[in-house]
Amino acid sequence: MTGRYRIDQPCFEALIVAGAEVECLHEGCLWLEGPLWLEESRQLLFSDVPNDRVFRWSPGGGVAAVSQGGFQNGRTRDRHGRVIVCEQGPRRLVAVEPDGARTVLATHHAGGRLNSPNDVVEAVDGSLWFTDPDYGTLSDYEGHRAPSEQAACHVFRLAPGATEPQAMVGTMVKPNGLAFTPDGRWLYVADSGASHVPGTPAEIRRFRLGGDAGIADDGVFATLDCGLPDGIAVDERGNVWSSAGDGVHCFAPDGGLLGKILLECATSNLCFGGPSNDQLFMTTAKRLLALRVAVGGSRTAVAVP
Ligand code: MG
Repeated sequence: MTGRYRIDQPCFEALIVAGAEVECLHEGCLWLEGPLWLEESRQLLFSDVPNDRVFRWSPGGGVAAVSQGGFQNGRTRDRHGRVIVCEQGPRRLVAVEPDGARTVLATHHAGGRLNSPNDVVEAVDGSLWFTDPDYGTLSDYEGHRAPSEQAACHVFRLAPGATEPQAMVGTMVKPNGLAFTPDGRWLYVADSGASHVPGTPAEIRRFRLGGDAGIADDGVFATLDCGLPDGIAVDERGNVWSSAGDGVHCFAPDGGLLGKILLECATSNLCFGGPSNDQLFMTTAKRLLALRVAVGGSRTAVAVP
């Protein structure tokens, strides 16, 4: 189908490709998540969380099952070439080497098991920041039902070489997707609390890195007017693209809504990628979609002083 857009600011037109087709790359799933484009091998990893399956898609190669196990959700690539995976089932953060070898990075904080790591990004200093809402322990649908052993649903920072993550944010209801600004100085975190707690946020908060506490809450960056923010991604110009109830919402670095990609369903997560870094891959409940865009994903970062 042809991409449909809502233009809220004229500059949004420079980010999209008029007439580009929304491609359905895969369908027939229960709840897709965790899209990650791997540049060298030119393939996209993604998960069907409730079915506990991981797939890869490649241009011309279609979709193939990779593995199962762990109820894998969000993932990212670190500077060592490892794929860092949030496993909701065993409630841990895992690194997968290029040869497939796996290393468990984090399982506990303050003596308790993590809730169910949901999404992860790497900071410019090599630390891994991940969210730990309780979606994987609320039922057996996308994990294993269990009581929480944490005082809150945290945003954690795992320093290079550390085994226990440090709680950086403990005030969000259900912290979910997260992404850094291109310069690495600011962190966006989606709060999808409204999924289970009426009256709580469907918003993206922004945090400034640095200072004695390591992070400072800059407040609400954007509130969604349709659905929930789950996964988010930042483009090379610093715009923030968020999953939403009616497709994808795109926000300027000042939080203003630039426009929307309108789909016939909600999205759960998204990432930039493709051989020319000009595709936006979007996961929905049942389908993996792709749309050519006129901006690439953020790739660069500078050291935070
Ligand atoms: Mg998520």
